Amino acid sequence: MAVTKMNDVLYGDLPAEPSVLVPGTRSPLGEELLLCHDRATGMSAAIAVDDTTCGPGLGGVRWMSYPSFDGAVEEACRLSRVMTLKNALADIPYGGAKSVILRTPGAGDPVQRTHQLLAFASCVNRLGGAYVPGVDMGTSVADLATIATVAPWVSCNHNDPSPATALGVFHAIAATVRHTLRRDLNGVRVTVQGAGHVGSSLATLLAAEGALVTVADVDPLRAATVAHDAGGTTVAPELAHSHSTDVFAPCASARVLSPKSISELQCAIVVGAANDVLADRADAALLALRGIVYVPDFVSNAGGVIQIHAELAGWDDAQLTAALSVIGQRTGELLSQADDHRSLPLYIAEEWASARLGHTVTIPD
Ligand code: NAD
Repeated sequence: MAVTKMNDVLYGDLPAEPSVLVPGTRSPLGEELLLCHDRATGMSAAIAVDDTTCGPGLGGVRWMSYPSFDGAVEEACRLSRVMTLKNALADIPYGGAKSVILRTPGAGDPVQRTHQLLAFASCVNRLGGAYVPGVDMGTSVADLATIATVAPWVSCNHNDPSPATALGVFHAIAATVRHTLRRDLNGVRVTVQGAGHVGSSLATLLAAEGALVTVADVDPLRAATVAHDAGGTTVAPELAHSHSTDVFAPCASARVLSPKSISELQCAIVVGAANDVLADRADAALLALRGIVYVPDFVSNAGGVIQIHAELAGWDDAQLTAALSVIGQRTGELLSQADDHRSLPLYIAEEWASARLGHTVTIPD
C-alpha cells in the first residue's frame, strides 16, 4: 500500500509498519492511502483507493465526526474495500475507493464548508483520476458540484443516486422475502434504520407494496416525517435493531451488527443500504447461527453506483431500470446458491466478485 501524507498530518507520525496503519483491521488494505490536512481551512481527510483492477476507484465522500483521525482512516479503508466488492459484483468499470472528511466545529458554516470542500478537491486531484468521489453520508449533490469545480473526475455532481440505491435495496428485500418467507411484501414488517436519502425512499417503496414500515432515526423529526409518509410507525434509534420485525434494513452508519446487537435481533432477514454493516466478517456466521438470512450490503446497495455508471455511459431509463431489477435477481440466485452449497451468502458473493477481479477479495475482518 502506498501511503502519502499531505501537508501536516496533525495527528502524530505515521507508524513505520503499514500493518498498523489501518487501526482495527488485521492487515493493510488497499493500493493507496492519502492522508490530507489543509492548514488554511482546517480540512482533514483520508482517501483510500482499495483496488483499481476494474477501473478508477469509485466511492462516496463521508463527512462525519470521528473520535480520532485513526477512526476516520479505518472507516475510509474498510469502506473502500466494500466498494471494490460492490463495483466488481455490479459489473461496472470501476474499482473501489472511499474518502472520509473529519467534521470540525464550524463545518455547518456554508463559507467554511465550501473552502474545506475545495481543499479536499485539490487532494482528490493529486490522485490523478484514481479516485472518483460521489455522495455519501454527510455530503450532497451540491457538495460534489463544488468539488467538481476543482477536480474533473467526480460523480453525483448533477444527480442524487440515493433513489436508485433505494430501488435496488427494495428489489433485494423483495427477493429475500420471496426466497425465505415464500410471500410477497404485502403485510411484511420492515424496520428501516436511518431515514435519510436512501431510507426515506426505501420506506416509500415498501409502503407502496403494502409492507408495514417502522422507522428509526437519531433525528426524531425525520423519523416521524418518513414514518408518517409511509403510513408507518417509529421506534427509538437505540431500539431499532431489537425491534420485533420480519426484515431489519440498516440504512445509516457502518458496523451496526456486532455479536451483541446480533444477539438482540428479532428478525428473520437483514437487508439494507448501509455499507460495511458487519463489525467483523465472522459476524456473518453468527447471523446464520441465529437462523437470520443476511444479504451482504455490497450486493443489495449497488443501485447508486449502477445509476452513476448509467449516467456516465449514457444509458436510457429502460436500461437503468432493468439493471436495477437485476439486483433482485442476483439476490435470489445468491440465496439459492448459498442453500445449494450449504454456504453463507457473504462467502458466495465474495467469490463472485473475486472471480471478476481475478484475485481473492473479502470484506474486512
Ligand atoms: P444520509 O446521511 O442521507 O442518511 C443517514 C440517516 O441515518 C440520517 O437521517 C441520520 O440521522 C441517520 N442515522 C445516523 N446514525 C443513526 C443511528 N445510529 N440510528 C438511526 N439513524 C441514524 O445517508 P444515505 O445517503 O441515506 O446513506 C445511508 C447509508 O447507505 C450509508 O451507510 C451509506 O454509505 C449507504 N449507501 C448510500 C448510498 C446512496 O446512494 N446514498 C449508496 C450505497 C450505500
